[in-house]
This record gives sequence, C-alpha cells and structure tokens, in this order.
Amino acid sequence: MMDLNKKIFVTRASMPDINEYIEEIRSLWDSHFITNMGEKHDLFKHQLKEYLGVKNLELVVNGHMSLELTIQAMELEGEIITSPFTFASTTHAIVRNNIRPVFCDINSKDYTIDVEKLEKLITSKTSAILPVHVYGNVCDVEGIEEIAYKYGLKVIYDAAHAFGETYKGKKIASFGDASCFSFHATKVFNTIEGGGVSFKENKIGKKLYELKNFGIKGTEEVIGVGANAKLNEFCAAMGICNLRHIDEEIKKRKSVYERYIDNLGMIKEISVNVYSVNQKPNYAYFPITVFENKSKVDRDVLYDQLLENGIFARKYFYPITTEFDCYKDVFTSKDTPEACKVSKRILCLPIYADLELEEVDRICDIIKRTV
Ligand SMILES: *Cc1c(COP(=O)(O)O)cnc(C)c1O
Repeated sequence: MMDLNKKIFVTRASMPDINEYIEEIRSLWDSHFITNMGEKHDLFKHQLKEYLGVKNLELVVNGHMSLELTIQAMELEGEIITSPFTFASTTHAIVRNNIRPVFCDINSKDYTIDVEKLEKLITSKTSAILPVHVYGNVCDVEGIEEIAYKYGLKVIYDAAHAFGETYKGKKIASFGDASCFSFHATKVFNTIEGGGVSFKENKIGKKLYELKNFGIKGTEEVIGVGANAKLNEFCAAMGICNLRHIDEEIKKRKSVYERYIDNLGMIKEISVNVYSVNQKPNYAYFPITVFENKSKVDRDVLYDQLLENGIFARKYFYPITTEFDCYKDVFTSKDTPEACKVSKRILCLPIYADLELEEVDRICDIIKRTV
C-alpha cells in the first residue's frame, strides 16, 4: 500500500546489502590498515578504471577536492571560463585556487555551457575551460575542445553528474585533459563521500597523488604544499560493493525516468529534460522547467505544493553561483541571462533506483493538478 504521508526526498543513497559490506570490510579488522592507500583503495581504483574505461585515474576524498586539486596539479592561473549554473563546488574550486572564474552563459536546451558565447570570453589571462555536464547532459565536447585546442587552453570537466555515461560510444571520463567525479551519497554512484579524477597526462596523476597526501614523497621527503584528500578504506570498500550493482541501479533509474516521461512528457505547461541521442545517460536527475506564460503557477508555487504533500523536490540550481552572498559583490549575473532565467524556472523531481513507480504517478498527479 502506498503511504500518502511518506516523505519522499529528491534522492536516496544507494547502499549494498549490509552483509555484503561487512564481508568487504572484514579484512580491515585483520590488517588494521584503514586509510593511506591500502588494499581496498587500490582494488577499487583498479575496478573503477575498468568501469570508466580509462587508463589514468586518481581517487580522492570527495568530488570537490577532485576539482580543487586538479586545478592545482595543472598549475593553472589567471582566469578559468566556467558555468554559473552548477553546484557551489565548481566556482569555489576555482576561487580557492586564487583564480578568477569568468562566467559563460548556458544554452536553454540542455543547460550546459553555450559554446557560441565561449570564444569571446577568452583573454590573454585565460588558462582553462571548466564546463559542467550538468544533470548528466553531456556538454558540446567537440565545440569546447576545438576552441581549447585553438587557444592552447586546458579543459577540465566537472563530471560530478555524469558517472558512467558515454557520448557517441566514447566513455565520458576520456574527454578533456581531466574529468572530475563525485561519489557523494547523493550521486548515482557513491562511496559515502569520495571523488575521482580521470586525466590524460601521467604527470597530472603524480601531482594529484602528491597533493592528496600533504606533498609527501618519502618518509623524510616533502616536495609539495599538499592537502589531505585521501579516500579511506571504508569508503573504498563501499565503492567496491556499489560498483557491483551500478548497472542495475541505472536500469532502475531508467524506469523511473520513463515513468516521469509517460506522465509529464505531453504537458504543455512544463518541459522535461530530454537526453541527446548521442549519449548513454545515467538518469541522475529529473529536472522540469515551469513556463510561467503557460502554467497557472510559477516554479516556487509548484515546489511549495509538492512540499505540502511530503515531496521534497529541489531548486537545482537556484540561485546560480554568481548570486551567492559570498560572490554577489564580486561577480555579476548580468552576463549570463539564460542561466538566471533557467534557475528561476527549474525544479528537480525525486529520482533514485528504488523510487516506486506508484510514487512517481502520485508526484505527477500533483504536478498536473497544480500547473
Ligand atoms: C556534488 C557536486 C560536486 C562536489 O562533489 P562532492 O563529492 O559533494 O564534494 C561538484 N560539482 C557538482 C556539479 C556536483 O553536483
């Protein structure tokens, strides 16, 4: 029976069977080796390389540090062109490296960086482009990399939403100079907290390994001003377990996605996120856009209406990062009007592997009644 009082959150962490996890961590009680790149770390890294289809991968403590340390490892400076329509982490990672983010607007189709507007933002100070595969929508990788090549810029993708995806049959982790992943509890694939970087040049991997461990090279040798960003053995073990079930998880997410499309695809008051035919999606998010000229209500009213029914949708991404208190006197949102507009209309509906299809119907009924 469907419980109408049950709270439904926008996401729910995937967890293996408890006994599977206990089996995975049992050896840690023998070794007492619970962090600092132990056996679980190395095994997980090996398996993840295989799954992501890359030769080069470094594991870190979370997605944010994957961005922050990659920027540091590449010794970037000056300005980095990026999107303001993202999670706080993307902009913070640039600013915390003492680099100026230059904000490029997004396109209204898939909310990724608008390549048409990219080139004119390049100055003599630009060192890199940091686009976001937002909601798992793959950026215009060809357009971005063509411009980057022309101007000799590095490309780092924030791939926090794009775990396991492919574009034209090519693994998402293989694009750009580096791709940064998050394995946070709320993501498609989690290690509780965790992150990873896939990269092209071997020297970036060496640098990342150094930087995640205080710049320590040997017991008596410290060669860099590093941080502590190591993925511990318990998180790596969680990753090993969750990786066994990831294909099944994504399959279940797909049926939730399809149920939403069946229910909402034809409603003229809103639009749903449609993936490019070139990509294999992971169904990480289900954003809808509320058109205020067609709908009786705006996004905020719909959000409140869902909340009254115990459904916790999220206004991802609102506000855009340039509107944050810490940035609003430093950066402007005027140059990214599309990002501003989208952020006021968009709403991410609950989606996770075990979300029951009857619950999806209930959510959709509330939406249809409200808009
Ligand atoms: C989650 C997320 C991050 C940060 O990852 P954490 O693992 O939470 O540190 C960075 N960028 C985007 C777009 C994200 O959604």
